[in-house]
Amino acid sequence: MAKQKPNKKDKRKKIFLNKVPKKNIKNSFLSNFVISILILFFVISIYSLIGNNKSKEKISISELAGAVKVGKVKNISVKNGDIKATFQNNVVKISKKEESSNITDTLSAYGVTPTELSKVKISINQNSGFFYWLLNLSPILFPILFIAVFIWLMTRQIKGAGMQAFSFGQSRAKLTAPDDQKQKVTFKDVAGCKEAKEELSEIVDFLKNPKKFFEIGARIPKGILLMGAPGTGKTLLARAVAGEAGVAFFSISGSEFVEMFVGVGASRVRDLFQVAKKVAPAIIFMDEIDAVGRVRGGGLGGGNDEREQTLNQILVEMDGFEPTEKVIIMAATNRPDVLDPALLRPGRFDRRVTIDLPDRADREEILKIHSKTKPFAEDVNLAVIAERTPGFSGADLYSLMNEGAILAAREDRKKVSQFDLVRSIEKIMLGPERKSHILSKKEKEITAYHEAGHALVASVLPYADPVHKISIISRGRAAGYTLKLPIEERRLQSKNEFLDDIAMSLGGYVTEKMIFGDLTTGPSNDLQVSTALARDMVTKYGMSENLGPVVLEGREGKVLLGRGMNEKEYSEEVGALIDKEVSKIMKDAHQKAEQIISEHRVLLDIIARRLIEKETIEHGEFESILIANGIQPKRKEEV
Ligand code: ADP
Ligand code: MG
Ligand code: ZN
Repeated sequence: MAKQKPNKKDKRKKIFLNKVPKKNIKNSFLSNFVISILILFFVISIYSLIGNNKSKEKISISELAGAVKVGKVKNISVKNGDIKATFQNNVVKISKKEESSNITDTLSAYGVTPTELSKVKISINQNSGFFYWLLNLSPILFPILFIAVFIWLMTRQIKGAGMQAFSFGQSRAKLTAPDDQKQKVTFKDVAGCKEAKEELSEIVDFLKNPKKFFEIGARIPKGILLMGAPGTGKTLLARAVAGEAGVAFFSISGSEFVEMFVGVGASRVRDLFQVAKKVAPAIIFMDEIDAVGRVRGGGLGGGNDEREQTLNQILVEMDGFEPTEKVIIMAATNRPDVLDPALLRPGRFDRRVTIDLPDRADREEILKIHSKTKPFAEDVNLAVIAERTPGFSGADLYSLMNEGAILAAREDRKKVSQFDLVRSIEKIMLGPERKSHILSKKEKEITAYHEAGHALVASVLPYADPVHKISIISRGRAAGYTLKLPIEERRLQSKNEFLDDIAMSLGGYVTEKMIFGDLTTGPSNDLQVSTALARDMVTKYGMSENLGPVVLEGREGKVLLGRGMNEKEYSEEVGALIDKEVSKIMKDAHQKAEQIISEHRVLLDIIARRLIEKETIEHGEFESILIANGIQPKRKEEV
């Protein structure tokens, strides 16, 4: 793998980089040239067809001979088979003869004597040469040429489909050349991610000035793994590293490796590494590497073989190149837990950079970055939007901004207002409003009470998040919704918070049962979410009294048919105990909710009736209802 001679390498690099942008220009020039030649041919052949029988008067050879005899003809010019006779009165007439025969012979055959002939000036214009042949052959050549060009254009298009970025190799990696200004991303375009940027600036430094590192004998990591939730900007950061360092950036996603037939994934990897080495310094970026990098072994069926070959090839290539090669491999994943340990070994992706969801300040920065291209009304306050969007990823914030702009455009406004952005938050959280989804009177009443139940329980319980908004306009799949937001950003969640959260989820269920004496399918999602949370409390977080501090969650280790299978690692008895604990948590929560709702029945009616009337209760209004009924709303603690 390391057999390249430095000189050759450098030369190839130049050729390669020149080739990338210029190829298309050359191609388009060539095809333009061919097309103009074709048009020229076409015009010439049409011309030659029309030009031959121009409106000049025709005479036969015998008539011409007669005219020569009586001395009426001044001169004759012969061009191949065409005869052009100019009469004494300057009239021009044309005629034809056999091409092979001589004009004097032809005329004397019609009885013209040499003396009569000598009075006429005869000029013979034998047209040979290139254009003559071209003209004569054009009716044949034209269709042949046409077909040839057609075939050529077709094959070019087929080839061009996959290989626009670079011409050789079959790797489908997209290349961003270092001088590509349009696609260039730098650290400035990435908000937040401070630690990640710090880590990565070391790599940038190395790519910019590798000598400094080599001289001191430092080894630069070959592989860097970016880990983080979807949409946190992993792909963006990788691009930014290339942009900062000004090096070529090859990017390919794991699924692209796998997409094709057996054996191709591995050869693509080989190709990709080879090309990258030629143009070094370069970054190879493998996005969504978990698609190929899952734990090997335990595979059934053919699908995994291809994946394993690809993964093996990645490992081989990574081992194969020297640290002096100036190629850095970056990869991104949101499932680091399923990656094959071989990938994470020293010498491979041993540098790991975690990218967290943005906090409040970062969110504001991200919003600012994406607001640059949009005109905003004066009332826009991005800090408020950032505050209301905990848990949003960079990608969510990006689409929030976009949705805001779409809303403004749909209402024919030139500027995006704060209200547009606020509405977009809910749209992204809950899906679009379905105003057309009309609830019957009864359904509306049930939904109103259901949501009022949630809101009431959330407001009374000390550890539940405060209610931000209640609505019975259906959104996505929910008939109504109660939006609650944490007072502040949290990294840790406590048992009490979980318990109150479950009780609040059951608020809707309890209310329906209590008020209407019946149950609908409405609370099904509430039940699902809260039961899952209760189970996690027992099996993951050690929050159950009876089972204590153990993790009983099935470990996701074995990969079966490409999917992780949960494997139970506890006995039947423990399983039964878990179920018992979960149902105890649920029962307690149910009781708590029931108690609160029967205690505050009056308030429940007030909230529900207000909802039926107005469909939506906003934060401020809800707080004043609470205060009027003797409940102190939760406020942000002053820090
Ligand atoms: P990932 O690869 O982690 O799933 P991406 O890098 O594809 O996420 O991010 C998607 C989009 O979200 C980016 O193109 C960018 O517009 C936006 N984005 C995400 N994180 C950030 C950030 N920290 N700063 C600015 N924009 C961001
Ligand atoms: Mg990505
Ligand atoms: Zn509900």
